[in-house]
Amino acid sequence: MDFLVLFLFYLALVLIGVVTICICSKTHYLRGLVRGGAQVISHIIPECLQRAMRKVLHYLFHTRNHTFIMLHLLLQGLVYAEYTWEVFGYCQELGFSLHYLLLPYLLLVINLVFFTLSCVSNPGTITKANEFSLLQVYEFDEVMFPKNMKCFTCNVRKPARSKHCRVCNRCVHRFDHHCVWVNNCIGAWNARYFLIYLLTLTASAATMAVVSTVFLVQLVVVSDLYLETYVDDLGHLQYLFLTLPRIVFMLGFVVMLSFLLGGYLCFTLYLAATNQTTNEWYRGDRAWCHHCPHVARPPSAEPQVYRNIHSHGLWSNLGEIFLPAAAHCAEKMN
Ligand SMILES: [Zn+2]
Ligand SMILES: [Zn+2]
Repeated sequence: MDFLVLFLFYLALVLIGVVTICICSKTHYLRGLVRGGAQVISHIIPECLQRAMRKVLHYLFHTRNHTFIMLHLLLQGLVYAEYTWEVFGYCQELGFSLHYLLLPYLLLVINLVFFTLSCVSNPGTITKANEFSLLQVYEFDEVMFPKNMKCFTCNVRKPARSKHCRVCNRCVHRFDHHCVWVNNCIGAWNARYFLIYLLTLTASAATMAVVSTVFLVQLVVVSDLYLETYVDDLGHLQYLFLTLPRIVFMLGFVVMLSFLLGGYLCFTLYLAATNQTTNEWYRGDRAWCHHCPHVARPPSAEPQVYRNIHSHGLWSNLGEIFLPAAAHCAEKMN
């Protein structure tokens, strides 16, 4: 069972790493750490290679491209192929309920519909035609979103809660973030599609993780398979359990994905319930951070603390995501 112990240790390490990065991402320590790391690396890696890496990173994260969509579909395809090829058949032989086994496919269909909608839908592009109506939707807080601000690239007045996306080169109403996995901005009009996409993706990973775990537990522990050994071609003693490497690898992948996606889903649901966008959550602390020189105010100035003025109760906040104000009339105007 050494393999399993090592595997669990590896999984725990990855999860601790991700949680630490999430906690540090709101502080300036991580930026300092990244800058220090980049300086060390710049002395080791040749200049031409650094330039090539910068070009690749710029292409991947600062331009609109389909790389992550392809990667997403490839990984999803591989996991479902393995599930269909091995787990599904074995589970049927072991007498698992067919409804239970078909659940990942149902989730896949719903997921692909909302994935496509997240990719192709208009997130809330602000144009000259809808600028006026969108300016009326949210109140200006005068801290994070002052009145009468203009985007000189798009040549529009910026409504409260909007932001110019540098990747898409457009201003987006109730801007949340730019998602490379769907190659689109997430804003007022497609946040609902993105939320359901995330929910079904997490559910499909978790369902597969549960089915594969129950299958392996039944196969390995109940039938004492983990104690069975055989002698391989080279004369080494091997555990029979390790003859299912693809299933074990897939299980590790979907378990890790379930935790990561589950954590991100909880964060997204928290933002939806409290009526905040990722952009506002990220900038919220920085608006009054005394340690950051670029946002520090002169001591004589009145302290301006950011306060969320858009939350009007759980149901109203969720209603805003699923029935965004002015979406229909503004969509017609585009
Ligand atoms: Zn703009
Ligand atoms: Zn964008």
